[in-house]
Amino acid sequence: MKKIILSLFATALLIACSENTDVQEEVLINNDGVQTAELRKCFASENFDKMMLNPEYQKNVQLIEDQTQSYIADMELQAKKGKPGGKPSGGGGTPVGDNLGVVNIPVLVHVIYSNNAENISDAQINSQIAVLNQDFRKSNSDVNQVPSQFADLAADSEVTFTLAGVTRKASSRTSWGTNNAMKSSANGGVDVVDPANYLNIWVCNIGGGILGYAQFPGGSAATDGVVISPQYFGNTGSVSAPFDQGRTATHEVGHYLNLRHIWGDGRCNRDDFVSDTPTSDRANYGCPTYPTTNCRSADMTMNYMDYTNDACMYMFSSGQKARMRALFAAGGARESLIK
Ligand SMILES: [Zn+2]
Repeated sequence: MKKIILSLFATALLIACSENTDVQEEVLINNDGVQTAELRKCFASENFDKMMLNPEYQKNVQLIEDQTQSYIADMELQAKKGKPGGKPSGGGGTPVGDNLGVVNIPVLVHVIYSNNAENISDAQINSQIAVLNQDFRKSNSDVNQVPSQFADLAADSEVTFTLAGVTRKASSRTSWGTNNAMKSSANGGVDVVDPANYLNIWVCNIGGGILGYAQFPGGSAATDGVVISPQYFGNTGSVSAPFDQGRTATHEVGHYLNLRHIWGDGRCNRDDFVSDTPTSDRANYGCPTYPTTNCRSADMTMNYMDYTNDACMYMFSSGQKARMRALFAAGGARESLIK
């Protein structure tokens, strides 16, 4: 089959606290516009860049970043003073002593389907909730594959998820794209439900080789949540290798909890705002061998926020844990979720 290389130049505009750089991504597609290689592709960063064109959202992002950095500085200070407050983060690394303990996020799943395979079973939905709980509590069975260089950084994020409800809606639409149509009943989708108190996940076919996308904190309530295509949701039922172990949701919920891609969506000096993740200038795909060196250090390719296959990502870092948990602290952007 004839292949062409499509170069996407996504100019990352107006990202607070980082310089503007051009990001080039290459996606292999065939002449029918279908991806030939099984490469992870999420749309969360593009969605973020689009939202950052709105000055109101820019302001929100800056406020959230300020609160996050202040929380992290406070936690580091407490750790230096040896104050209790907290438990050490799982696996060592920077202790996080926010006194919140394990926090639970109630989840609503909206299944929008045009065929039987897309109308995923309750078992498939439950399998996804189970994977989220394992990955965010560092009880995933593959965490022992983390190389010793990073083993001390692998964190129990102390976040759990409970399925609070499932809605199902039949539709003749076969692909939904990335413009949030699935989040609007006026467009044939399902309206968001109480996003201050629930993580909303829409499961519908996105199309275009996109596995999923998330809305970072600080955006419109009407579109808050995560979207994932049904064949990448959960680890049983109608799932499709190599993204058949539920890690797409782990990655997207990471974005929803304010984690950036681990390479910072840019060159070596572009940051993911997490101090214990190595710098990199690119996504890693497939199942890379360790060490994979970019920007003069080994990439943390096994991090959930890289672009590797489900079987080859199995950790969040302590720094990522702190960044996520800042949202639940007093004044945090997702504080209401856990109340
Ligand atoms: Zn992503």
